[in-house]
Amino acid sequence: MDRSDVIARAMLFAETELAPRAAEFDRDEALPRDVIQRMAAEGLLGASIPTKWGGLGLDPLEYGEVTEAIGKACASTRALLTVHTSIVAGTLLELASRRLKEKYLTALARGEMIGCFALSEEGAGSDAAAVATTYIRKGDSFVLNGRKKWISFAGVADLILVLATDNGVTSAFMVERDMPGVRTWPMSGFLGNRATHIAEIELDDVEVPAENLIAGIGAGFGFVVNTALLHGRYSIAWAGVALAQAALEEMCTYATRREQFGVKIGTQQLVQKMVADAVTSVAAARELCRSAGRSLAQRSADAATETIIAKYFSSTVAQRATSDAVQVLGGNGCWSGYPAERLFREAKILEIIEGTSQLQQIMIADAGYKKYARKA
Ligand SMILES: Cc1cc2nc3c(=O)[nH]c(=O)nc-3n(C[C@H](O)[C@H](O)[C@H](O)COP(=O)(O)OP(=O)(O)OC[C@H]3O[C@@H](n4cnc5c(N)ncnc54)[C@H](O)[C@@H]3O)c2cc1C
Repeated sequence: MDRSDVIARAMLFAETELAPRAAEFDRDEALPRDVIQRMAAEGLLGASIPTKWGGLGLDPLEYGEVTEAIGKACASTRALLTVHTSIVAGTLLELASRRLKEKYLTALARGEMIGCFALSEEGAGSDAAAVATTYIRKGDSFVLNGRKKWISFAGVADLILVLATDNGVTSAFMVERDMPGVRTWPMSGFLGNRATHIAEIELDDVEVPAENLIAGIGAGFGFVVNTALLHGRYSIAWAGVALAQAALEEMCTYATRREQFGVKIGTQQLVQKMVADAVTSVAAARELCRSAGRSLAQRSADAATETIIAKYFSSTVAQRATSDAVQVLGGNGCWSGYPAERLFREAKILEIIEGTSQLQQIMIADAGYKKYARKA
């Protein structure tokens, strides 16, 4: 199939199969198995993975378009792309040994296994270096102990990318859910991403074969977390465009239909301001994402900073545009009979995950000082 056909097919799938059910998934707090299987059947769970590993081989810009289409229809389904495809499969593709790729990458790309990313813990959120989950070497294996929290799709995943430490030396491991000592507890009651099967994971003397170590001892932060978060942030940047675009369409549609004071509310200048801001900021966010996508494709030295800027800007735009959509819809914006309130809840999540907006600001300011401070 031609790659433009892949994107068109993903858009059609999103519009016809995801969008009509997104409210149901949110209400039920579960992405059904049949949806995950349909994503796999469409090849979307390997969208950005090369064809030789069983994926669709989309480049970053094409993958961004697919992420936007899926994210506009359903934020929780988009989160599956972020975690499974961007973070887990993307990290394996870049950093894993050939043996580990053969073991897991094709199965992930085809959706035969579902992956999740387990970094966060009770005491390790923004300060990821504070992970307390431990590993020790034992012959031809490593033994892991600890507890991970807020892990998206942990409730259904077959494979867990786990970050653990040995007295400050952080390493990453692929842990199979069926390995003895792995247990999960579902978490519920989230603001958004409600259908993403978030769970806590307990690792109790889990023995992992040494070949499941990714990129060597001590590569946990310098390589694995940086790579995983780079891919995750690129996905979240497009997720922000997706939610803001959906909010924009909601507010335009409503403003051109709803009448108060004998006129359409869209003719009121204060409403027009919200629409104009959304039109402008969505266009700007999409261009930042495209620029980051081009830099990622070229493996440019600026790719990481551009991706952080795109993630920060785009999630801010999503927050603003979805809030304005609720405003334009008035009481209906606050009611689950319209999608605006769900978009608003989903947008807030983007300012927290894959590094909070404050953490992005710190990194952007650092990049700014390096680039723009005069040397003398
Ligand atoms: C829906 C959802 C899904 C998630 N999925 C996953 C997942 O799949 N895998 C995973 O590993 N984790 C996951 N997480 C966890 C997520 O990555 C963390 O919530 C996030 O990193 C923030 O950590 P924290 O919640 O501990 O907040 P904290 O780090 O405690 O931060 C709280 C506040 O303090 C601010 N702050 C902290 N440090 C600084 C600083 N140095 N300067 C300025 N401000 C600062 C933050 O910006 C924030 O506003 C998920 C979370 C949510 C909500």
